[in-house]
Amino acid sequence: MTKKKLTEEQERRIYCIKHGHANYVTKCFGYVNCGRCGEQIGDQLGGIFDTRELLVVGHKCETCDSIRKKLSKHDLKILGELEKKEAKLGLE
Ligand SMILES: [Zn+2]
Ligand SMILES: [Zn+2]
Repeated sequence: MTKKKLTEEQERRIYCIKHGHANYVTKCFGYVNCGRCGEQIGDQLGGIFDTRELLVVGHKCETCDSIRKKLSKHDLKILGELEKKEAKLGLE
């Protein structure tokens, strides 16, 4: 029997389960999603979720820059993909 290979998405989910969610997130209509696995980790509808310690994709502030410098190569790659997606959405 061959072992089924995990998709990259599954691998990212497992990574989050083991190590916790990424410190970079995407925001959509007030919802905050983990940048790595895409799971919703909070919402700002009530203004409760604090993203000041997080890198928000598309954001270019000092906090985001300093978090970016500490990311692993793997996370930087994922972040790059997210930013490409975000840039595309912005153009449409
Ligand atoms: Zn996650
Ligand atoms: Zn920022």
